[in-house]
Amino acid sequence: MSQKGSRQEKTSSHSTELYTEVPSTCLPIVYSPDYNITFMGFEKLHPFDAGKWGKVIRFLKEEQLITDGNIVAAREAAEEDLLVVHTRRYLNKLKWSIVVATITEIPPLLFLPNFLVQRKVLRPLRTQTGGTIMAGKLAIDRGWAINVGGGFHHCSSDKGGGFCAYADITLAIKFLFERVEGVSKATIIDLDAHQGNGHERDFLDDNRVYIMDAYNRYIYPGDGYAKRAIKRKVELDWGTEDPEYLQKVELHVEGALNEMRPDIVVYNAGTDILDGDPLGGLAISPQGIIKRDEIIFKAARGRQIPILMVTSGGYQKRTARIIADSIINLNNQGLVDCDCAAREAGPSHVPLMMSQSVSAGT
Ligand SMILES: [Zn+2]
Repeated sequence: MSQKGSRQEKTSSHSTELYTEVPSTCLPIVYSPDYNITFMGFEKLHPFDAGKWGKVIRFLKEEQLITDGNIVAAREAAEEDLLVVHTRRYLNKLKWSIVVATITEIPPLLFLPNFLVQRKVLRPLRTQTGGTIMAGKLAIDRGWAINVGGGFHHCSSDKGGGFCAYADITLAIKFLFERVEGVSKATIIDLDAHQGNGHERDFLDDNRVYIMDAYNRYIYPGDGYAKRAIKRKVELDWGTEDPEYLQKVELHVEGALNEMRPDIVVYNAGTDILDGDPLGGLAISPQGIIKRDEIIFKAARGRQIPILMVTSGGYQKRTARIIADSIINLNNQGLVDCDCAAREAGPSHVPLMMSQSVSAGT
């Protein structure tokens, strides 16, 4: 199902490190150890597992789905890359620790000199942002791509919030529109528990982008202005469970893709819909999350529409295991082709032993 060969790159406005050629032996799974935020115990002050990205990779390696050598190393988005969407005014504001403390919801950051905030918090987020942009191009080339981080859907060109400092989804789409021939329409399917007001504000009144958003209607951000950008709004109640949720997701993703056929689907696969999440307020099981991801990949890949997945919110201790299990399930279902790429890598690579069943996340 993968589409071989890059499409022609359009003449670009600035030269970027994020669109360099990737060897065909690499899987379109993007990650860097630099994603993980760990320093001086501050990460414990935010109600999240700030090392979840590295754990997803560890689990995928344990299952022999990937190796260090066959995934794509994310690069940090440079200032020029960020300026494709962000205003200089906004990027300058991030030079104030208090602004970053507010955006990331880690109050003690305000006491740190900005060079440390840049190095320990913003650089990881910029690397994840670079990863989403890279994965966008890979999705077009290969038919699918997964950035193990990213999904900062509360950030727009001029405003961050809710842990989101850079608008990686908007950036990935704008890069594709500007640089890749034949990509002029995108659909965002945002299934994080929160409303994706960042990309919604960025694409208000932009008919090239179709947004479907399913979220808990009672929680942050409740951005009524941004909601005008949503073509398919699925507002959920407290404690929504698997049957209702999965039925709505399937109905609306099919509807969305039938209504407009995009050149790329950007899937914001937040796992804060998980039962017990302190922020999401929904009650979806690990199996429900795995099924949800399968539904979205089936809908996109069945129509041969390239899909880019980012992992977004969800930071419980068991979240990383569920994300890894979901990627394993996608591979078992033939919706991503991890084993194909390994075979192409040649005889020096040991054939992968794929586990046939999804190991339980709980
Ligand atoms: Zn969220």
